[in-house]
Amino acid sequence: MKLILLGAPGAGKGTQAKRLEEAYGIVQLSTGDMLRAEVASGSDIGKELKAVMEAGNLVTDDLIISMIASRVEQDDCKKGYILDGFPRTTAQAEALDKMLEDKGQKLDEVIEMVVDEDALVERITGRYTCADCGQGYHDSFQKPAKEGVCDKCGSGEFSRRADDNEETVRSRLVSYREQTAPIAEHYKAKGMLKTVDGMADIDEVTNQLKKILG
Ligand code: AMP
Repeated sequence: MKLILLGAPGAGKGTQAKRLEEAYGIVQLSTGDMLRAEVASGSDIGKELKAVMEAGNLVTDDLIISMIASRVEQDDCKKGYILDGFPRTTAQAEALDKMLEDKGQKLDEVIEMVVDEDALVERITGRYTCADCGQGYHDSFQKPAKEGVCDKCGSGEFSRRADDNEETVRSRLVSYREQTAPIAEHYKAKGMLKTVDGMADIDEVTNQLKKILG
């Protein structure tokens, strides 16, 4: 199964992708995570990426497209994948169409998580993750049962993304509105776009997604 989760930053794509990964045995391909790994490696390209990401801008299409093209060739993608954060521009959506067509493959679903933009700044600036297992938390909406201890793995180490501060979030939302939101139309025109209510409770969103995916 190959699917795309579309939606603004903070819509919950990463959270839901992790749940679908477990439920369907397919792999989450988050271009944001791949880029953060490159930044963490301290490479020259990582340094350039860091500046672009911390400004809330998009990385170049060429780099992202070649990154995804080689990632989907890996063995763990054989059963399928969930694209999270890609495509983010019309050029990326077109490159993905071409890449799949060349392989004689197609997408099974394109699902947009629809959210109210006013809620996003609070959602994003309050989020953090367990540094050991990656479990997501939020200062107001999803605290660990015991303060300072990860529910899932018991770690006491947490981290926040460098680009989850209010100033960067506002730029990310502008990039989303101008460059990414139009790709919903790309898939709508192909009759492929489905939507779920991203403002619903986390479990309810998962249920809506599972209803679509079967
Ligand atoms: P995300 O984790 O999806 O919120 O992505 C974090 C940042 O990585 C974005 O604000 C962009 O700077 C960059 N990024 C992630 N995916 C893409 C993409 N498909 N195209 C361009 N830039 C991306």
